Amino acid sequence: RGTPALQVIEQTDVADWWPALGASSEKYTRGVVGVATGSATYPGAAVLSVAGALAGPTGLVRYAGSAEGEVLHQHPSVIATGRVADAGRVQAWVCGSGLGTGADSAAELRAVLAAPVPVVLDADALTLLVDGKLADRLRGRDAPIVVTPHDREYARLCGEMPGDDRVAAALRLAAWMNAVVLLKGDRTVIGTPDGRAYVNPTGTPVLATGGTGDVLAGLLGSLLAAGLAPERAAAAAAYLHGLAGREAARGGPVTAPDVAAALRPVLARLG
Ligand code: AMP
Ligand code: MG
Repeated sequence: RGTPALQVIEQTDVADWWPALGASSEKYTRGVVGVATGSATYPGAAVLSVAGALAGPTGLVRYAGSAEGEVLHQHPSVIATGRVADAGRVQAWVCGSGLGTGADSAAELRAVLAAPVPVVLDADALTLLVDGKLADRLRGRDAPIVVTPHDREYARLCGEMPGDDRVAAALRLAAWMNAVVLLKGDRTVIGTPDGRAYVNPTGTPVLATGGTGDVLAGLLGSLLAAGLAPERAAAAAAYLHGLAGREAARGGPVTAPDVAAALRPVLARLG
């Protein structure tokens, strides 16, 4: 095997990939993203992942989970649907942030995986994969999977920390799971099952604060639902999320809702 193809994500790539709005655009054709995140214990994770999804290019966000009250209070444009199985058609699912790891959460994850659409698996969904010994049993799933581990979640999935060669680490997990891997951290990298990799240049340590990963997962889900190829959706989401962190930091110390809000000015400048 030679050196993997490695691409540094650039603004022009992201602008090219971002779906254009046309006169005939309509909310359903822009894509519908389903968000299965949060719990009574962690309603904030639901609010933040929905905020990330709403910043993306889709026309509609459906929320399936038990933080419905908080989500609708913060985001009245969302349609709450109860359980995943009752959500109707969506073009992609985001699952995991703050979901919990009990039997009910596992059932919701299974419902997400049963849908024939691309999925983003984050946080508790990754723990559930490990607990259920499912991580390498999703290989045959037809629709794409994107997993978004930080280093400790990566270690849970792989049994070892990513180490210094983060590109190689992401590619190992991607090949093993047959999923696109967005390995988060100081140097966020994206690896594909067929050995291609992207490095994100926009990261900033101001993102090292609770809840920012939830915003990223939501945005990524919206890009998948809008029809981007999974590695492009992951690369674009990481790039814009980093810029949003930098934008938010102009106003002082950064919290996750600031990052979600800063996606709007960042997108306004995307061109
Ligand atoms: P999570 O741990 O799931 O909340 O996700 C944290 C988010 O912050 C991810 O998007 C990381 O890439 C980002 N992040 C965390 N620490 C750093 C860092 N030191 N430099 C750049 N980005 C970071
Ligand atoms: Mg997280």
